[in-house]
Amino acid sequence: MPELPEVEVLKRSLQKKIRFCKIIRIKIYNRNLRYKVPYSINKNLKNNVVNNISRISKYLIFHINFSKKLLIHLGMSGTIHLINKKNFKKNTNTSFYSSPNLPLKHNHIEFFLEKYQLIYNDPRRFGFFKIFEKKSLSDFFNNVGPEPLNNKFNINYISNYFINKKKNIKSFLLDQKFVSGIGNIYASEILFCCKINPLKKAKSLTKLDIKKIRYFSKSILNQAIKKGGSSIRDFKNVEGRNGSYQNEFKVYQRENLNCLNKDCFGKIKKKVISKRSTFFCNRCQK
Ligand SMILES: [Zn+2]
Repeated sequence: MPELPEVEVLKRSLQKKIRFCKIIRIKIYNRNLRYKVPYSINKNLKNNVVNNISRISKYLIFHINFSKKLLIHLGMSGTIHLINKKNFKKNTNTSFYSSPNLPLKHNHIEFFLEKYQLIYNDPRRFGFFKIFEKKSLSDFFNNVGPEPLNNKFNINYISNYFINKKKNIKSFLLDQKFVSGIGNIYASEILFCCKINPLKKAKSLTKLDIKKIRYFSKSILNQAIKKGGSSIRDFKNVEGRNGSYQNEFKVYQRENLNCLNKDCFGKIKKKVISKRSTFFCNRCQK
């Protein structure tokens, strides 16, 4: 699943290519996503210009003609592909879990832009497209927790949130109402750097634990963005370069390998927590 860093890399890639491009028309191949793609999308957006592309948490926002916003979420397996009209054979992957050969049957929606065709492909169909007028978009984000890079995700916010909470910290890091943008990969990496056991109850975290959670959530996501995201299965940016943060993983998919912390002779364990694989060292993560 693309997490905040991959969506940020995608946003930057799209900004370079399609900012200020006019949408000529939009074709729907399959409306069935998490929410049905509105039939009106073509009528609503054609002949308008994509003025900007921004990101909040794992959501991409296309700012259309300064009046409407198109919210895109990639769900579990959504990918966005740009095809340069001048060179039809060159298929540029811009998103997570991409394959150079587009499985056509999973193409849901296609934007015909001035210079490019933008295709949204999503085999598992958990992504979505929604159009918002300016104000209603902020209402949507009222129900989404702050992202780790936002100042609202601070020590006071986290401490207050955790009062009397019995659920484990790993589940909270994946809970998008508490903090948005962290997914399964980065949650394991963050807790390893904090030396906090993923099963530790939120209410029993110390002030120091909370400081570490805030610090490492921020720094790990920023490092991942710098490295172009994590390429688990062929994620590429529009220049065709892979992300490289997967080479920095300290615990994710390292089951039974040696712990990388100095002076620790433990092995990385894998445990399913809230139905998601969690990787950690039970010697140095207390
Ligand atoms: Zn260890």
